[in-house]
This record gives sequence, structure tokens and C-alpha cells, in this order.
Amino acid sequence: MRAMVLDRQREPLRPAELPDPEPARGQVLISVAACGVCRTDLHIVDGDLTEPKLPLILGHQIVGTVVGAGEEADRFAAGARVGVPWLGWTCGECRYCRSDRENLCDRPLFTGYDIDGGYAELAVADQRYCFPIPDGYPDEQAAPLLCAGLIGYRALRLVGDAERLGLYGFGASAHILCQVAVGQGRRVFVFTKEGDTEGQGFARRLGAEWAGASTEAPPEELDGAIVFAPIGPLMTAALRASAKGARIISAGIHMSDIPAFPYELLWGERVLGSVANLTRRDGEEFLQLAPQVPVRTEVEVHPLTAADEALDSIRSGCLRGAAVLDVAGSVGQ
Ligand SMILES: [Zn+2]
Ligand SMILES: [Zn+2]
Repeated sequence: MRAMVLDRQREPLRPAELPDPEPARGQVLISVAACGVCRTDLHIVDGDLTEPKLPLILGHQIVGTVVGAGEEADRFAAGARVGVPWLGWTCGECRYCRSDRENLCDRPLFTGYDIDGGYAELAVADQRYCFPIPDGYPDEQAAPLLCAGLIGYRALRLVGDAERLGLYGFGASAHILCQVAVGQGRRVFVFTKEGDTEGQGFARRLGAEWAGASTEAPPEELDGAIVFAPIGPLMTAALRASAKGARIISAGIHMSDIPAFPYELLWGERVLGSVANLTRRDGEEFLQLAPQVPVRTEVEVHPLTAADEALDSIRSGCLRGAAVLDVAGSVGQ
């Protein structure tokens, strides 16, 4: 199979021909149609996340069809369209797994980090962690739902029922969550890099009531916020913009340091928090909800061999929506 391989961090990916993977017990073999490119992939390549398996095939927003199965893997019929998310395996035994918090498992395996992912024509995945993909979404538009969508959805749940919701950073995840939040009747306020008027216009088109620079104060206090951009000072900016009782949740796996701040910013039962990974229940709930909103993903499609360019488009911050690899070469055909 063709794949893009990360041999060492901070180096470009290498196009490679590899032997086809064999599904082990409980695993399905998937012919990858499309794979979303996530900011987490960038953190892996750039060395912000320090313990990937190497060499590694990145990619944890896989959409494809089941073309084979190992022993005791009969959950999906051949030809079923499935999605594979970041959470690839959990131990089922630790105190987190036993208390319905498998997202916090002590010994997890993550797709495209500990397990080879979807920047390849074929992938294997534990069938218990795969999701059926809702009809009505083409492969490339379904892919960003699998991380940008459902980890964002978990962050939205942690924010609680905040009516005036701030979104800091407007990339793949925020452009999905903005639609979900507006659909829930929330008022959405979007913060982008200074001068990104195009991004601010994009946010307003997706239903945001206000969009401006993260250095600006919103027209009203926020009841909660999700910080998508990996920039620690945005956590304190969100606190400054928030009303009493607001929950400020960081949705990313890596962030620069949060600067010291006076306690009075936190006073008034404000909460700073983070979201980590996902549970399978989050995924099932979100994939049911997405077609009802309905969430429309805006995607920039790249061929598999242009994975580095796709990563660069996230790094530069000039991407509208989500980047997706068209692995099967089938988009637009
Ligand atoms: Zn566990
Ligand atoms: Zn991700």
C-alpha cells in the first residue's frame, strides 16, 4: 500500500510503499477513502508531543470501507463505511475505564500516534472503537467530524449551558462547533487572529453573532468559552471576557504556557479546564447529532502525497475549515 510515513519528528513525511497491514483479532481492515488532518498531527510532527511510535503513519480522522476482518471481528459487514477516531484502544481495567471515563485511561493507544493511522491506503483498527458514518456525508466531509467535530463536542458539553459562548480560534473544530452551538440556540462570539477579517466573515456566515480579534473585548460578557488555538494567553483573555460562573475549556492537546494572572479574574466561580480525548459515547452522540443540525463541514482537499502541504496549511493558520487527504483519489469523481 501507499502511505506517508513519519520517520523522525521535525522532518517531512516520506512517501512509501509498505506491505498491506493484517487485521489482528478483533480488528477490521479498512480501505481508506479520506483522512482528516488535525492540529494534533502537527504537534506530533513538530515534536510538541514527545512519544509517538516511529516510524509512524499519522491520521486519526479516517473514513473508509471495511474490506477484511481478523478473528472475532464481526461487528461490521464487508463494505460497511466506518470512521476511526483518535481513541484507538483502552485498557478497560484502570479506575478511569471502570468509571465511564475511558477518555482518561491510564494505558490508552491513540490512532496515528501509538497505532498507525490513515495517511495510507489501508489501515487496521479495533472494531470496538470504530463508528458507523452517517449517510449524507461524502467521505471527505465526514472525516473532520471524527476529531474536530467530536472532541469539540465534548468541549462544548464541558462548557455547560453557556448562552453567550466564546470560541477562540476558528479552525476545523470551531467551524463545526459554531454550527452546533447556534443550532442549540446559543449566541456565539468568535475570536480570531488580529486582522483575519476573512476568518471573521466565515464565522459570521456560520451563524456567529459577533467576530473580532482576540485582543478585542466582545460586546457582552461570555458565559463560557472554548479555546481552540494552542496559545496559553488566550485562556486569560477568555477569563477577562467572561461573566461570573463561566467555564473556560481548552480543547487542544498542547498549549503554550498560561501566564500568571490576578486571582480576581478567576473569582466568581469561574473555572479553567481542559478536554482530553473522547469516549465512544461522545462519538456516538455527536455522529447522531451532526446530520440533525445539520453540520456542514468546509474542507480543503489534498492528495495523500501532499500531506505535508496540508499540515502547513494548518500551521500557517490561513485554512478555512478543515484539511482532508483524499486518499482514494475519489473526490469529485
Ligand atoms: Zn484504562
Ligand atoms: Zn485530532
